[in-house]
Amino acid sequence: MRIELASLEEGRGDFTHTYQLQDLTLDDERVVLRGTTEVRGKVKRSGTEAVVEGHIDTGVQVDCDRCLKPIQFPVTSDFSLEYITGGEYEESHLAELTEDVMSVSVFNGDTIDLDEIVKEQILLAVPTRSLCKDDCLGICPQCGNDRNSGECGCEQKETDPRWSALRDLMNGKS
Ligand SMILES: [Zn+2]
Ligand SMILES: [Zn+2]
Repeated sequence: MRIELASLEEGRGDFTHTYQLQDLTLDDERVVLRGTTEVRGKVKRSGTEAVVEGHIDTGVQVDCDRCLKPIQFPVTSDFSLEYITGGEYEESHLAELTEDVMSVSVFNGDTIDLDEIVKEQILLAVPTRSLCKDDCLGICPQCGNDRNSGECGCEQKETDPRWSALRDLMNGKS
């Protein structure tokens, strides 16, 4: 869905949209949407600038970082994004900085692609590490058994403390 800025009365407008599952494909295959995605918000335009503010509600599925079991959880995101036209971007000295440094995006002056905003904001809201539970035991490195479902009986060599420190590191314990 695109927000048409030309049709805004006095440069302001509200938007609300429900994306069905098949309407959005996230750019990170680690994260899978689980249902509809709701977005609502408002857009304000003045001259060569625009501000889009909104709220997103959805649900995602990712794999546990330790045992790879799928986990599902709700994701909400509040966002506020500033846009300027490419022309203004060139004229100002902003062009010397990258878009990443500035919290400003460039738009064409007529439309803003809401789909791109929604996809990006969902990925930003998903934590980079996810566990099925805080004390997930992970997978046995020797036999691949899910250690949450019981001991597999493999011998865990615990004798050398350097190895256990390394294993803690791999498991994300500091
Ligand atoms: Zn797990
Ligand atoms: Zn094992």
